[in-house]
Amino acid sequence: MTKVAIVTGGTRGIGEAVSVMLKELGFTVAANYAGNEERAQAFTDRTGIQTFRWNVGDHEACLDGCNEVAEKLGPIDIVINNAGITRDGILSKMSFDDWNEVMRINLGGCFNMAKATFAGMRERGWGRIVNIGSVNGQAGQYGQVNYAAAKSGIHGFTKALAQEGAKYGVTVNAIAPGYVDTDMVSAVPAPVLEKIVGKIPVGRLGQAPEIARGVAFLCSEEAAFITGSTLSINGGQHMY
Ligand code: NAD
Repeated sequence: MTKVAIVTGGTRGIGEAVSVMLKELGFTVAANYAGNEERAQAFTDRTGIQTFRWNVGDHEACLDGCNEVAEKLGPIDIVINNAGITRDGILSKMSFDDWNEVMRINLGGCFNMAKATFAGMRERGWGRIVNIGSVNGQAGQYGQVNYAAAKSGIHGFTKALAQEGAKYGVTVNAIAPGYVDTDMVSAVPAPVLEKIVGKIPVGRLGQAPEIARGVAFLCSEEAAFITGSTLSINGGQHMY
């Protein structure tokens, strides 16, 4: 039986590239999305990948959504926690809601999805969780205390959960992308983006499939000895 993978926020940007690559590699993919029905339908028409709507920041919705995927496609073997948002602003201008929303979706979403799927993976003796962090969770970024804290939290979450899965064939890893050419980055004002690209040693933004390739590797059998690690894919922007 083919392995079943859920990709949160899996219908656009990095998530879309991951969904498509995992499908090409023979996995059965469920692409989760937050709300845009039309875009989700267009994605299914384009890729043949089924979509499932729920908000990853909503604990109950995650449990129900994962149950629905398992009923339709089979037990969930792989979770890619990709869904994420930004609500940028310097601390003095950042509202408590902006803080909470980013924590609830970016970090809380990882917890919610793990609660829904991790026990089953451990029972079946095989699983892969890949959490999408960020270079800005590693290095910090002006105007992003919420985002940097949530992404940094993902890296800690990954190392802690990896220890709970290791004996049971379940690996938990993170990817820390640098700046990748998606809708999220096109929201950055052009002069700011120009400055950012100027600091990337390879001299360009990353492309979504370059992140997807890393995810696919961490999901493979060959990556069974890698757990609790963070793979930085950032064009040399931040090295440690
Ligand atoms: P994007 O905005 O194009 O895509 C994000 C996806 O997450 C969208 O499909 C969106 O609908 C979904 N999403 C948002 N909130 C959700 C929710 N509550 N429930 C379900 N889905 C939800 O962004 P992207 O650039 O493709 O980013 C994907 C991931 O990579 C994010 O976690 C982001 O933080 C991370 N990342 C991106 C970059 C970059 O430069 N693009 C860099 C580092 C990390």
